Amino acid sequence: MSVVTFTEARRIVEEHARRQKPGDTEMAPLLEARRRVLATEMVADRDFPPFPRSTRDGYAVRATDLSRLPLRLEVIGEIKAGASSEVISRNVQPGQAVEIMTGAPVPPGADAVLMVEHAAREGGFIIPARGVASGENIVPQGAEARAGERLLAPGTRLDPAALAVAASIGQSEIPVYRRPRVAILATGDELVEISARPEPSQIRNSNSYSLAAQTAEAGAEPIILPVARDEAGPLREAITRGLPADLLLLTGGVSMGKYDLVEQVLAQLQAEFYFTGALIQPGRPVVFGGLPRAREGAIRRPQLFFGLPGNPVSTMVTFDLFVDPVIAALSGAVVKPLVFLQAKLKSELRSKTGLTRFLPAVLGGEFENAEVEAVRWQGSGDVAATARANCYLVVPPDRECISAGELIGVLVRWSH
Ligand code: AMP
Ligand code: MG
Repeated sequence: MSVVTFTEARRIVEEHARRQKPGDTEMAPLLEARRRVLATEMVADRDFPPFPRSTRDGYAVRATDLSRLPLRLEVIGEIKAGASSEVISRNVQPGQAVEIMTGAPVPPGADAVLMVEHAAREGGFIIPARGVASGENIVPQGAEARAGERLLAPGTRLDPAALAVAASIGQSEIPVYRRPRVAILATGDELVEISARPEPSQIRNSNSYSLAAQTAEAGAEPIILPVARDEAGPLREAITRGLPADLLLLTGGVSMGKYDLVEQVLAQLQAEFYFTGALIQPGRPVVFGGLPRAREGAIRRPQLFFGLPGNPVSTMVTFDLFVDPVIAALSGAVVKPLVFLQAKLKSELRSKTGLTRFLPAVLGGEFENAEVEAVRWQGSGDVAATARANCYLVVPPDRECISAGELIGVLVRWSH
């Protein structure tokens, strides 16, 4: 049984995540591919931009013409965005200019665009107020990408910018990996379903729902299993029901209590434990391991599982810290290291040492003046305090006191 530091726990998770393989690929309509993972590369179907593109409203000119001012240029035509090839093909000769709009193709002969603000119009002529460098205000054809060049690599998580890339190459359907299925199993004798009226000592099962929501946000498909009792036999059966999924998340029953049976039952099912605790708070009892599963071809890959602590905040935090990379890998996405941002601490913070702490906090301030402050909470059961927070403050294990104004790590909850 091994309790590891936060950094070590994360390293172990990433290592096992990278050994996982994504499922099959399927085609998803463009907008439904949001948050899913690209299974093939995306390639430019033509040059980007497909023509030398003006980035300004103004006049397409020959830069050398403007090397000696003052002078007058004859305006021989107008090119707007989407103009026909006939309009575009007229050659700009020395002494001439073409009125041009943003996004329009620069005609042959011209090699710069003089901004409209820098030219005085006099009937069929302009008088430039300043010179221009060759290439100014023009993005050359193919400067962003040449036809056939890779725009996005397989394993890219499809965010709005990636969907814009798909649209720009005319891809209305996108090859993506199948969503991994994540079985969610809450355990505890005190738990009742949310439709039931709880007895005074009973607690509504909220973890299955926070985990299902986090799973869906991570791009996977949650499968909520019925709550399991704190009894070895039924617990074993419930875990077995979760085995066909790509990943199994258990919550509750991983602490040191007499009825915390999850580890014991997993051990009976021949689980291998990669760690059985992490020096973090909340979330210390978190368990990570693999269960044997039937052979798929020649390779036998364990089914990964997490035993997440039952306290609602612990469950959420440990998902963000450790479950995310495994879902990424099972979705075919590149497993990335966790990144903390930094912000100024708003008020002094005292903490016990020895554990990396993740405290529900509010990140605010304006523009470059980011400030962060822990919310008042009653500990890792306080889900309402967490719902009022938008991030976690990251307190390193060796800091007893952090003064107001110091920079401190922040783990952003991306749904915010
Ligand atoms: P455990 O990890 O089983 O010792 O549970 C720790 C605390 O979390 C206890 O107060 C439980 O009642 C609570 N808890 C456990 N599972 C859930 C759940 N699914 N939903 C809400 N609270 C839970
Ligand atoms: Mg319990």
